[in-house]
Order: sequence, then C-alpha cells, then structure tokens
Amino acid sequence: MNFHDNDVIPIDATPNDRDKIVREFKTALKETGLTVPMATTNLFSDPAFKDGAFTSNNPRVRAYALQKTMNAIDLGVEFGASIYVFWGGREGTEVDASQNGADSLKRFREAINFLTEYVLDNGYDLKFALEAKPNEPRGDLFLPTTGAMLAFIATLDHSEMIGVNPELAHEHMAGLNFTHAVAQAWEAGKLFHIDLNDQAFGRYDQDLRFGSYNLKSAFFLVKFLEEVGYEGSRHFDAHAYRTEDYEGVKDFARGCMRTYLILKEKAEQFHQDKEIQALLAEIHADDGKLTSITGKYSPQNAASLKRQSFDRAALGARSVPYERLDQLTVDLLLGVR
Ligand code: CA
Ligand code: MG
Repeated sequence: MNFHDNDVIPIDATPNDRDKIVREFKTALKETGLTVPMATTNLFSDPAFKDGAFTSNNPRVRAYALQKTMNAIDLGVEFGASIYVFWGGREGTEVDASQNGADSLKRFREAINFLTEYVLDNGYDLKFALEAKPNEPRGDLFLPTTGAMLAFIATLDHSEMIGVNPELAHEHMAGLNFTHAVAQAWEAGKLFHIDLNDQAFGRYDQDLRFGSYNLKSAFFLVKFLEEVGYEGSRHFDAHAYRTEDYEGVKDFARGCMRTYLILKEKAEQFHQDKEIQALLAEIHADDGKLTSITGKYSPQNAASLKRQSFDRAALGARSVPYERLDQLTVDLLLGVR
C-alpha cells in the first residue's frame, strides 16, 4: 500500500498523536503482511497550497512545502518506502500574469535539489519519481506530460536519483498515447514507478478501474511492461465507481489486478501466436545490409549511403499488413483465437 503523509497522520496531529498512529500502523502492517514500497506528500488539499507549493509566489508557502515534504519523507522511510512520488497538484496557474513560467520551473528545481540533498545527507535509500498531469485541479499544471518531466529531470543536480511515475489517466487526459510515454521513460532508464488506472480521452480525471474503459490501450501497456521486464510496482492509482458499497470497492480492487493478469496472459498468447509472429517477422524483415551503414555515423558510412539508390515508388507501393495485424490482435483480445 502507499500513502500521502496526511492519509496516515492528520495535518494537525501533535507529535504524540503521530507516534501513536505510527506504532498502530506498523502493527497493522505486520499483522496483514502489507508493505509500503512508495510514499508521497499531500501538497494540494490544504488551502495553504491554493497557489502552489514548491512554485508558490509566497516564500513562506514554499518553505512550508519543503518542511512538510522532509517530514513526509522521514515518515515514508520509516515504513520502508524506497520510492518517493511527487505530484504537484497545485503547481500551476489559472492566471499567467501571476508568475513567469521559467521562474516557476527554477523554484521547482530548487525544491527538488534541496530534497535530494536532504535524502543523501540522511543516508536514505530513496529515489524520487515525478508524476505529470496536464490540468486539474489547476487550469494548467507545470510540466504537463511525462515527456516534459523527463526533460526537466536532466536539469536536476542529482538526476540519477530521479525518474518518473507516469499515470495512465493523466496522459489520456491530454489525448496522448500512454504506452509511448511509458516506453520513452523506460528507454531513458527512468521508469521508477507507474500509476495504472483508466480514463476516457478528453474528460475530467476519472481514475477508473484498470482496463475498464480502453482495453486495447491497457493490453499494449501490459504487453510492453512484461516484454521489457519492468520490475517496479504495478500500482493502481484508481477509485471504485461512486455507486459502490464496501464490497463493491473490493470488487474494484480485485478487478484491477484480475484485468492486469488476464492481459499479461494475452500478451504471452500474442507471443505464442504463429500467425501474428509470422506477420511480425514479415513486417520487421531486415537483411542487415543498410542497417550496418545507418547504425552509426562514419565518413565511410555517409559516403556509402550517398551511393545507394532507392526505388522510391516501390517503397511507397509496398504492402504494410497492419489491418490484418490489428484484427488478429482484436480477435485475440476478444477471445476468439
Ligand atoms: Ca488520477
Ligand atoms: Mg497518480
């Protein structure tokens, strides 16, 4: 399980309250065998953060956000968390006259740099994962996509400690292909964590049960995670429908896991399917003659490439059997293969 600091410790708890809750919660974890691989800070619910936390125009708010996060990091580490997520729920604007977007990023950078130093100074075994979202609850949030986060990470003092926590719903809100965002993060060595749920394009943040809305997107995501051997948490950041009672919430939680596992089996079936694999072999056919030239620049390779002649009309006329490939995938997902 994971938590925001204030899911466990109320924001106005006394130090005594805190210690009592920590003791009880530790006992509950022991009894149930649950673990806390990730923790995070709530920097969005309290009205103090109404105009941002790390990027607020008010230096007292920025300082309070840093203090709150240090305390929340201590709490997460105490429960064994090794990943610490940052979702800047109020880091953004409705009124662009209020702050210069470049200065806002400088403030965000300063805060993350401060906190990585804090982690190193305390000898914590903790990595950060930044979570992007395009909008809601602000009109526009800073660093709105996973790609924007990846570019930002490269500018941080301890970028080796910092990756991303892409959330399916957040990329779909922006109309983007989530699997592509995850693939970019993975390829950059930055897929530290993932938030799985579901979301219709162009809607408010829905946080639906994993795979409940767009099965095909969910399938390609699971297929990717399993193919590359992602070993992090399969973390469901989602909610049951508000129509549900307590048992319905359990149905929701089971459903997230069940759909993931079904799609994992479907991905395996995709790899075993002779027709699909034969088609893929045809699509990816490569005699290696040109890739040996184009793989890496050298003056010889450039000269050799310039000497090649290409039959442009034949390239344009070649068959690309994606209709068949996609229908085979659909057949497989619908259970008729
Ligand atoms: Ca969400
Ligand atoms: Mg999330």
